[in-house]
Amino acid sequence: METGNSKLPFYAFSSLPGFDCPGAGACLYGDNEFTPDNFGKGWCYSFKGWRYPAAFFRQLQNSLLLRSEAGRALIASQFHEIPAGRTLRLYVDGDFASLEILRFWMDLCHARPDIKIAGRDGVAGYGYSKSWKLFIELDRTGYKWPANYLLNVSSGSRYGDQEKREVLQLDCTRGEFVAVPVARKFIKARSYQDKDKPMSKEYRAAVLEKLKEMGHEKRFACPGNCGNCIARKEHACGSERMRGVTIAIGIHN
Ligand code: SF4
Repeated sequence: METGNSKLPFYAFSSLPGFDCPGAGACLYGDNEFTPDNFGKGWCYSFKGWRYPAAFFRQLQNSLLLRSEAGRALIASQFHEIPAGRTLRLYVDGDFASLEILRFWMDLCHARPDIKIAGRDGVAGYGYSKSWKLFIELDRTGYKWPANYLLNVSSGSRYGDQEKREVLQLDCTRGEFVAVPVARKFIKARSYQDKDKPMSKEYRAAVLEKLKEMGHEKRFACPGNCGNCIARKEHACGSERMRGVTIAIGIHN
């Protein structure tokens, strides 16, 4: 487990992107064709981190450790060494690769309710995953989900509507987090980065319009800066008040 810098103290854990993403769809495979030839041809940016060999080997090591009892015990002991009240960014890269691994992490969340689990953006109390089937399977065993992990169901998964309906019903799920196409001018102006960026209002209106067209009843356009997202400095993605609301970001057409 790595630590962040002193200004933003957090711990981070990643494993190999792609290889540890059983739910990956269009993000990993070009043309949404899940064949070995198409592997790595989607839009996932995590592979860029492999420019740094140390990052690749750390992810590889974690992927291997997670696959054995002894390896998981080692990760658990490191997890328990995290000082009280800190934040762990769980899966900055990679995702829950198996039922056993998902249960392992959720059990650790239960064991340390003081540790706030965060997604890749570093915001505490929630995460993003495309491993929907694993969440459904674990839920079917009667598993009680930890309070320090709220799931945002990410788009780009390989699973279909049936699985999506099921994962959205789980107690641990806040709602969907999707990417929708918007005009290039918003991307160029970086309107998606914060409310004070040029055309932010128009950008968010365009995102909401797209969500409406897609049939989402409860909609919210991500303003881009998690610290400046909704009232009371709450983060929409981690807010109980936002359960059942589809949150979207704009990507260019
Ligand atoms: S909706 Fe809010 S909390 Fe979620 S990613 Fe966007 S800015 Fe961050």
